[in-house]
Amino acid sequence: MNVLVVYWHPEPQSFNGAMFQRTVETLKSAGHEVKTSDLHAMNFNPVSGRHNFTQTQDTEFFKQQLEEMHAAEHDGFSVDIEAEIEKLEWSDLVIFQFPLWWFGLPAMLKGWVDRVFAMGRVYGGGRFYENGVFKGKKAMLSVTMGGPEEIYVKDGWNGDLDAILRPIHRGILEFTGFSVLAPQKVFGPARMSEQQRVDELTRYGERLKTIFSESAIEVGQY
Ligand SMILES: Cc1cc2nc3c(=O)[nH]c(=O)nc-3n(C[C@H](O)[C@H](O)[C@H](O)COP(=O)(O)OP(=O)(O)OC[C@H]3O[C@@H](n4cnc5c(N)ncnc54)[C@H](O)[C@@H]3O)c2cc1C
Repeated sequence: MNVLVVYWHPEPQSFNGAMFQRTVETLKSAGHEVKTSDLHAMNFNPVSGRHNFTQTQDTEFFKQQLEEMHAAEHDGFSVDIEAEIEKLEWSDLVIFQFPLWWFGLPAMLKGWVDRVFAMGRVYGGGRFYENGVFKGKKAMLSVTMGGPEEIYVKDGWNGDLDAILRPIHRGILEFTGFSVLAPQKVFGPARMSEQQRVDELTRYGERLKTIFSESAIEVGQY
């Protein structure tokens, strides 16, 4: 199967970096084709604008979604965006590897979604949710937290982590047709012993070996 791993962390030696490496190695060893978007290494530009396109149809007033629909019909996406959309179209499974920042996606990863998930190509024209463009594909978040698990429960300090992840699960992934797999959650890797971190990586590697046999989760309403 084809897997795209979209990863962001500014430090390759971080725990996220180790999770990313483990993902690539494990999936390749299991016989899958793997492509990556290592956004920090790519110096991916997360800022949207006219540069998303080879040319814009309205030179007076920039409206991103209208330009996206125009570009979708005229092969008009910039080289960097076109490459990322093609990776998404190629994939059977997309994995996002990232640290939770301010209860959400770090800016470069959010900007990647803002620019790459383009109307007319990735959604739109009645193609969303059950009829989404990526129907039949799977997606999974692999996310690390600074805080411990007990503060990420319903009546805990931060509240239920699944509720925090819902905007990504529902508003980005299910919206564009993906079936969402259970997120891989690592709480407080910096507070763990070396052995606990090694065990987390091993557990994740074991899961990845059979990831394609997993069914989608129900993304709740909360
Ligand atoms: C702007 C900002 C916003 C944030 N917002 C939130 C938030 O909303 N909620 C929240 O909970 N947290 C938040 N955090 C904290 C952040 O989520 C955590 O710091 C992050 O998830 C930890 O992952 P890491 O990869 O950076 O860990 P690191 O600190 O890089 O790694 C932990 C340890 O793992 C070690 N390691 C690396 N590779 C291996 C390996 N192969 N084997 C064993 N050990 C290894 C590293 O050497 C390091 O000692 C925020 C942080 C920032 C900067």
